[in-house]
Amino acid sequence: MLDQPDIIAAIATPPGRGGVGIVRISGKNLTSLARIILGKLPEPRHAQLSQFLDVHGKIIDQGIALYFPAPNSYTGEDVLELQGHGGPAIMNLLLNQCLACGARMAQPGEFTLRAYLNEKIDLVQAESVADIIEASTSEAARCAVRSLQGRFSTTIDELVRSLTTLRMFIEATLDFPDEEIEGLHDEEVREKLDAISQQFERILSSAHQGNLLQEGIKVVLVGAPNVGKSSLLNQLAEDDVAIVTEIPGTTRDSIQKLITIAGVPIHVIDTAGLRETTDIVEQKGIERTQAVVKDADILIRLIDCSCHAPGEDSEILQAFSIDKPHITIFNKIDLTSQTPGIETNEHAVKVYLSAKTGAGVDLLREQILRAAGWQTGQTGEGLFMARQRHLEALEATRNHLNTAWKYSNSESEWELLAEELRLAQDALSSITGHFTADDLLGEIFSNFCIGK
Ligand code: GDP
Ligand code: ZN
Repeated sequence: MLDQPDIIAAIATPPGRGGVGIVRISGKNLTSLARIILGKLPEPRHAQLSQFLDVHGKIIDQGIALYFPAPNSYTGEDVLELQGHGGPAIMNLLLNQCLACGARMAQPGEFTLRAYLNEKIDLVQAESVADIIEASTSEAARCAVRSLQGRFSTTIDELVRSLTTLRMFIEATLDFPDEEIEGLHDEEVREKLDAISQQFERILSSAHQGNLLQEGIKVVLVGAPNVGKSSLLNQLAEDDVAIVTEIPGTTRDSIQKLITIAGVPIHVIDTAGLRETTDIVEQKGIERTQAVVKDADILIRLIDCSCHAPGEDSEILQAFSIDKPHITIFNKIDLTSQTPGIETNEHAVKVYLSAKTGAGVDLLREQILRAAGWQTGQTGEGLFMARQRHLEALEATRNHLNTAWKYSNSESEWELLAEELRLAQDALSSITGHFTADDLLGEIFSNFCIGK
């Protein structure tokens, strides 16, 4: 996947019909392709009304041609954009004409991969391109744009620089013990390590928050039939200005909804839907519920507090024996004298609300964010859009920093200390991709959509 200097082409706009459709082409040299399709090479970076021609010189469409010569383009190669009418037939004719002129179909993410290989962007920026496209809330999108602008990378680079500097000093102290150069003392090493750790913890915390924005929070609703799960889900989605998507189950009932709370995507799964879809084999439904519960970030149990003896099925109790943040809801307070409110202790959160009137639902929203570790008042702008891959690299960095601490006490172990700093540095660098294995690149870019 990595060494392909050939010409690639793809329809960059989404499938379907629209005002404009774009075919994007990138390659080392697009002169001959442009001569066939456009009759000539367009003037660089000028929107040019052009006729798009087929191999026989017949007009396929007319539209705008944009030519970005290397290296000042998205990929760093010659890039040509043909903006035609946005219909599938025209777009396919245009794409086929590109293929007839020697281009091949681009693989998912291949344009961005080339941008990375030609050092137009680093890995974090490349990933943020996909994250912007996939963002499900405006907060998440804002956060991803920040990464694209290089803020995350800059912060990582700064930390790498601090690590390198400290390591150099330590190595110099070890290499020239008797020289006139000013060596470091234990105290100073620990002070510098401490500063680095603090710098690191700020990045980690911001990355964790950003990861919540990107991945969203998985919430599972459990409770006996008629306790109000569907009503609650509707309430939560009520004044949701963002997207509510329903992921249909195999039967009438939807199982999962995507809602947003304060810009954070929340995937809510109604376990009843899981069971209803498998009335043939109830056991299957229970297994699926258990799998979903295992995968959840937060469990929400509903109890009908207007009933004298709220029914509990064993399955629900089992789910709650799993060690996860959970919230218990006492629903239907409108039928009782109970007022909306929360009760918390270190192990449990109880929320009293009415899914019917909406009283107390805001309290629940707050508790969901809190249980997920979201620091309220946070906006996407202050965060790093961290992927799982980034978090794992940061975890590795943290382990090396911790080990480095242990070696800092005695100068006889500084060699080991320096080595840990180098490992921490490598782990951090894998985030921006300065030293990255080819297989990781393949994995990252294969998740892109075609045309990016
Ligand atoms: P589910 O089976 O758990 O999804 O429960 P539903 O949301 O379908 O609700 C079952 C019934 O309880 C419906 O008739 C709802 O209108 C009613 N219900 C749900 N929440 C409340 C509530 O807070 N107050 C009252 N009075 N009725 C509710
Ligand atoms: Zn329901």
